Amino acid sequence: MKLVYLDNAATTKPRPELVEAILPFLGERYGNPSSIYSIARDAKAAVEDAREKVAKVINANPEEIIFTGSGTEADNMAIKGVAYANAKRGNHIITSAIEHHAVLDSIKRLERRGFKATFVPVDSYGMVNPSDVEEAITDDTVLISIMHANNEVGTIQPIEDIAESAKKHGVVFHTDAVQTTGHISVDVKELGVDLLSLSGHKFKGPKGVGALWVRKGVRIERFIDGGGQERNRRAGTENVLGIVGLAVALEMAEKEMEQEMARLAQLRDYLIKEVMERIPYVRLNGHPTRRLPGNVSFCFEFIEGESLLLSLDNVGICGSSGSACTSGSLEPSHVLLAMGLPHEIAHGSLRLSLGHETTAEDIDYVVEMLTGIVNKLREMSPFGVDVSLDSACRCVEDDRHLIESH
Ligand SMILES: *Cc1c(COP(=O)(O)O)cnc(C)c1O
Repeated sequence: MKLVYLDNAATTKPRPELVEAILPFLGERYGNPSSIYSIARDAKAAVEDAREKVAKVINANPEEIIFTGSGTEADNMAIKGVAYANAKRGNHIITSAIEHHAVLDSIKRLERRGFKATFVPVDSYGMVNPSDVEEAITDDTVLISIMHANNEVGTIQPIEDIAESAKKHGVVFHTDAVQTTGHISVDVKELGVDLLSLSGHKFKGPKGVGALWVRKGVRIERFIDGGGQERNRRAGTENVLGIVGLAVALEMAEKEMEQEMARLAQLRDYLIKEVMERIPYVRLNGHPTRRLPGNVSFCFEFIEGESLLLSLDNVGICGSSGSACTSGSLEPSHVLLAMGLPHEIAHGSLRLSLGHETTAEDIDYVVEMLTGIVNKLREMSPFGVDVSLDSACRCVEDDRHLIESH
C-alpha cells in the first residue's frame, strides 16, 4: 500500500548518507574521546569536527555547543541550569502557554521548588506578543524561554523583538529551536538569544541526540554529574555516532535549505487551499504566513481527531492530532486551547507535517482521501448534524450554536 508520511514534526526519515558516516564508529573507530591514544584522539577529533559543523550552521562558536541526549534534555538543561545558577538573584521565569512539554514541565517542576512562573498568552494565530513578555519582566526575572516555532501549529515567534526586551532588562533568553533548526534560518546572533536547543531527529539525523548552545559568559548549573566531558558541562562518554550523524544531517539540511523551504511552502499552501475549498467546516490553525514551511494544521468540526487519524492510517497516511506526546491522551492540545479554540473543536485537530520525501502526488492523494474520510465520519457522527456542502457557508457563530446544542 501507498505510504504517505506526513508526521515530520514528530520525527524525520534519517538521511541514507548517515549510514556511511556513522558505521565506522560502530566498528574500528571505537575509541573513547577522553582517552589519550590514537584511536581515542580519532574519536575526539570526530566529535570536535561535528561541533564545528553545528556551530557554523547556527553562527556560533564551537566551544559554546553542548551535545545532549535529546532536544528534551537540551530544554531541561537550559531551563533548570539557568534557574539554579541564578537562584540567588531571583526566582521568576517567563515562558509562553504553548511551549513543548520539555519546557513547560521543566518550569512546572521549578515552581514546586520555589520558583514563580508567568505563562504569557498567545493570540488566535498562536503568536506571542513581545510587549506581554516585556511587561511580565520583574526585578526577580532570571529567565525567558519562548520557542522559535511551535511544533503543533507551526507559528514562528517574533524572537528578535523578545530578545531586545530581554537584553534591555538583562534577562537571559532561551529559545527551543527544535522545529526550526535545519528547516529555516537559525542564526543565534540574528535571533539575539542566549541559549538555543536543537534535536538531531527533527532534521533527518539520528534520534537520541541534541545540542544546547550556550552563549559564552552565560552561567548554567550542571545537572549531569560525573566526568569532565563537554567542558565539564555534561558528564558522560559522548554519543559519538549520534553526534557525528547529527552534524552530517544538519550540514546537508543547511545546503538544501533555501530550495527546500520554497518547495515545501508551495506544497503546504496547495494542501491548505485544496482542503479549505473542498471540505466544509474546517479551520486552519496557526498563522497564515508566519509559519513553518512544512506545517499544516487543521481543525475539522464535528470530527473526533483520533478517529480521523485511524481512518487516515487505514489508507497509508501518517498524520498527528497535534504533538506526538499528547496523542493517545484524550485531552485536547494545550496549544489549541491557548489559542482560544473551544474544547469540542480542538478535539478535531489534524497536523500534517511535510518533509523531504513529500511530493505533489502525495498531497493530491491526501486531499482525496481526507475529503472522503471527513464526509464519512461526519455522516456517522453522533453530533447528527447536516454538514453537506451547500450549508458550508454558514458563519462560525452558527457553527458554535450547532455544536453546543448537540
Ligand atoms: C521534538 C521536540 C522537542 C523534543 O526533542 P526530542 O529530541 O524528541 O527530545 C522539543 N521541543 C520541540 C519544539 C519539539 O518539536
